Amino acid sequence: MTKFVYLFNEGNTTMKELLGGKGANLAEMTNIGLPVPFGFTISTEACNSYYDNNKAISSELREQILRALSELESKTGKKLGDPSNPLLVSVRSGAVFSMPGMMDTILNLGMNAETVVGMAKLTNNARFAYDSYRRFIQMFSDVVLGVDTFYFEQYLEETREAKGYTHDPEMKAEDWMEVIEGYKKIVQKHTKQAFPEDPEEQLFLAVNAVFDSWNNQRAKVYRRLNRIPDHLGTAVNIQSMVFGNMGEDSGTGVAFTRNPSTGEHILYGEYLINAQGEDVVAGIRTPEPIQALEKDMPAVFKQFTDTCKKLESHYLDMQDIEFTVERGKLYILQTRNGKRTAQAAIRIAVEMEEEGIIDKQTALLRVDPEQLDQLLHRRIDDTHVRKQLAKGLPASPGAATGEVVFDADEAEQLASEGVKVILVRPETTPDDIHGIVASQAIVTSRGGMTSHAAVVARGMGKACICGCDALKIDLKEKQFKVGEVIVKHREIITIDGSTGEIMLGEIPMIEPELSAEFKTLLQWADELRDLGVRANADNPEDAKKAMEFGAGGIGLCRTEHMFMDAKRVPFVQRMILAETLTEREEALSHLLPMQQEDFEGIFEAMEGHPVTIRLLDPPLHEFLPDKEELLVDVTKLQILHPDSTELAEKEALLKKVRQLDEFNPMLGHRGCRLGMIHPEIYGMQAKAIFYAVAAIMNKGLPVKPEIMIPLVGHVNELRQMRQLVIDTAKEVEQETGLTFTYTVGTMIEIPRAAITADEIAEEADFFSFGTNDLTQTTFGYSRDDAEGKFLQTYIEEKVLPENPFAVLDQGGVGKLVEMGVQLGRKTKPELKTGICGEHGGEKFSIEFCYKTGLDYVSCSPYRVPLARLAAAQATI
Ligand code: PEP
Ligand code: MG
Repeated sequence: MTKFVYLFNEGNTTMKELLGGKGANLAEMTNIGLPVPFGFTISTEACNSYYDNNKAISSELREQILRALSELESKTGKKLGDPSNPLLVSVRSGAVFSMPGMMDTILNLGMNAETVVGMAKLTNNARFAYDSYRRFIQMFSDVVLGVDTFYFEQYLEETREAKGYTHDPEMKAEDWMEVIEGYKKIVQKHTKQAFPEDPEEQLFLAVNAVFDSWNNQRAKVYRRLNRIPDHLGTAVNIQSMVFGNMGEDSGTGVAFTRNPSTGEHILYGEYLINAQGEDVVAGIRTPEPIQALEKDMPAVFKQFTDTCKKLESHYLDMQDIEFTVERGKLYILQTRNGKRTAQAAIRIAVEMEEEGIIDKQTALLRVDPEQLDQLLHRRIDDTHVRKQLAKGLPASPGAATGEVVFDADEAEQLASEGVKVILVRPETTPDDIHGIVASQAIVTSRGGMTSHAAVVARGMGKACICGCDALKIDLKEKQFKVGEVIVKHREIITIDGSTGEIMLGEIPMIEPELSAEFKTLLQWADELRDLGVRANADNPEDAKKAMEFGAGGIGLCRTEHMFMDAKRVPFVQRMILAETLTEREEALSHLLPMQQEDFEGIFEAMEGHPVTIRLLDPPLHEFLPDKEELLVDVTKLQILHPDSTELAEKEALLKKVRQLDEFNPMLGHRGCRLGMIHPEIYGMQAKAIFYAVAAIMNKGLPVKPEIMIPLVGHVNELRQMRQLVIDTAKEVEQETGLTFTYTVGTMIEIPRAAITADEIAEEADFFSFGTNDLTQTTFGYSRDDAEGKFLQTYIEEKVLPENPFAVLDQGGVGKLVEMGVQLGRKTKPELKTGICGEHGGEKFSIEFCYKTGLDYVSCSPYRVPLARLAAAQATI
């Protein structure tokens, strides 16, 4: 018989897979003697057996639950449904990986018309008992019976107003009794059944509902975003209730052992006196900072801070702790490793190493490389005088500008059209998750630093401001007011999530810098890793940025970007339109000094680190005007100015555009095929490179050029293009009297190149895997069209596990990379290998590159720190 149910004293922290994160930690805390209300956990295996059993609880599982329940009853001395001494429990989901707010929770289960009387007597507080009962009906009906909470809220509001009250605390026991009757009628009306009064029936219905919530829409979206497998299932925790709403000597709160936003080593959190847990998390009332608890309840505060220290040193990581105080007694309801911003993750990891709590390798593993992106983005320029419109809580750092929207669906819609939006809501709920994903930033007028919006935004690295109560949001009118200022739907605002400020309009931003802790962590990463990290950079500014972020060289300089400058395009077009070689060479002679200047700038910025320069790659028509537009111009001119020279020029251009037109330009006349047919173009580029090398050498500076031929599919292409480069180098050497040190290599981005890598290596000093094109040509998916047309559906429906243009397809494209490396090194053991497709900045692909034995990865300058960390993690 499978054991499906575990009492808290039967588990421990290593049993996460079976008990879920929450269950395993509750068990662990019970075992280390912390004041945890007793209970039991129904395992994730039970959840999976529930699904295998057609979504029904088997008799075996039922029996085990009842047995655990009776243990719980004897431990607490209370009994479920006993009017004289009722046991009340919470029923909560608890997955292996924390999914905050995504699944369901039910509190106060066990209440009914009889137990409420008992509760009132026992606590000597009828008001509290009836309030708890009505909360239970509302929550249970919403989560288990599917009756929207809105009906209850509306009814409560009407009743409250009819009685002349403004706030719930004014309601008396009799008022709540009346509300309970009204609530029961609502349930009868919507479910055509009476509210279940039998506590055991309540319990089993609740367990079913928690299992079902594993597959609700928001949980599915969350799992997809966080790459959590669907088959894990959730555990269910049944725990005896403690009450934070028993009066002024009771309360409930959430605290982190370190600041989850900045990482600062201070207790950080908030609490509410006379409230239940959900009041804090839901963000409906704005809570007090945790430090104030020292004044309100000094003994409890001391016990709580001691517990926090104990938990942190037990788990060796920053903890996120939920607690409740019931009539002056502290209970710990939950602990877990706290979610944190990238900034906090770095500071906590580095400081914990310095405090001797963890070692360097653990510190490096504590920071998710993907998270670093948050720190490498622009922030508001402090030299700009800010005109603050309002200020809320700085819930998640970073700055953002966007159009104000008030609705998650609309945020998603506009974002899909490319509009940058900021989602402004009174508060967010887990149902808003798709809108949060789509927005640049989130602003709420209610709720604290641990409200739903704050937790989710921090997890995603999005800027977020919470509890900005100066914002009077009118969802109907689609606007918000701050004093006299009205901000309408789709007006632009800028927010600073690090300070909590909201400003009107767009505000200048500046480039990011690395903090001291960040530099320390990256230094540790560099000491450990043996995979090189380079940057893709096409101009001196990007090259400087790459150096600043610690790149060891440039792995890809795309020279076509130098052709796209507005001043240069006329010469590029003249080169393309040239009818004779002399005409073409004349146009090229204008481009040569411009390219040379760029190369000099890049070489200088890279201070002698290797620079891989790729010769021209895109089809030439990309530099010419659009065919349709040109046709319209020509037609107009034919009517209005039939004899003009402008018409003659445009007609010539149109003719050329038509000549260059291709059905499949990505498979057409591009890459080395350009150099093969027009060697003078590659010749000019090679000359510009060597003139630049000469200029740098003449300044007495170091320089290390690597010339790269794109889109090679046959060794003969590379042989010919390599010879062209060598001949050009010799020519410039003769002219300048210098001797150059350089290498010539190729991109491997066509399957045939990978398959014949042994032959290609004869002519190459290095290979750089161009996995953008290699993915395109291996799958046969157009990299420009696939995402918009079918790839998204493929990913959603799990035809493919990931977008192969973002995460390297190890099973297919990766095999070609492995083959390329092995065959290439068979011919030339010293062959240098790298990757320069987008995958070079993605952590899973970086790990693959390390395992495959590549010498380096190359990615955008902003992803270089991420790649340094991911490379170190791959080594650990
Ligand atoms: C590639 O194909 O992976 C590559 C780096 O080149 P580009 O993206 O310029 O085609
Ligand atoms: Mg390419």
